[in-house]
Amino acid sequence: MTNKTNLILMSCCAPCSAGAIKQLVNGEIPGIDEFIVMFFNPNIYPMDEYQKRLSEQIKYCEKLGVKYVVGDYNHDDWKKAVCGLENEPERGLRCSKCFAYRFCFAREYAKKHGFNAIASVFGVSRFKSQSQVDVAAKESCGDIKYLPIKWDENLRVKINRESNFYRQNYCGCEFSFRK
Ligand code: SF4
Repeated sequence: MTNKTNLILMSCCAPCSAGAIKQLVNGEIPGIDEFIVMFFNPNIYPMDEYQKRLSEQIKYCEKLGVKYVVGDYNHDDWKKAVCGLENEPERGLRCSKCFAYRFCFAREYAKKHGFNAIASVFGVSRFKSQSQVDVAAKESCGDIKYLPIKWDENLRVKINRESNFYRQNYCGCEFSFRK
């Protein structure tokens, strides 16, 4: 058994994850020995939007020399997971299912690849509820430790101001398009 903490940081996009990744690179989060960024977002629609967010994420990770993994994009499977909840508002039940779906994937990946902790940036957007993300994570991560890290918002905003990230104006799925 290792006492090391090998973390999977789940990310939805570069603008949300930039500060968290920088903090981890700088060793600002105590107790983390190694980490990897996971981009598993089959919730994003349509495909060209997914590609834009993925490409920005990869660019930022490569700029900082951070390892990353990309999960499969199967939007139809994701839609089955949230079936019946299409009309839920953002922060409603559909989002809980969506978080759980992605955390479950991370849990299985962690078990197979020797990671023992999971954190995310799913709650950093002002449209999201951090407590909702935390509940979904705790219910989904099983034996893999969930770390509800509170990321430095000032750093995230600063990096976003200095960067030229592609920036979306909706959360991700087709049910979250904003008028
Ligand atoms: S609004 Fe965002 S978190 Fe909620 S279901 Fe859609 S993609 Fe997932």
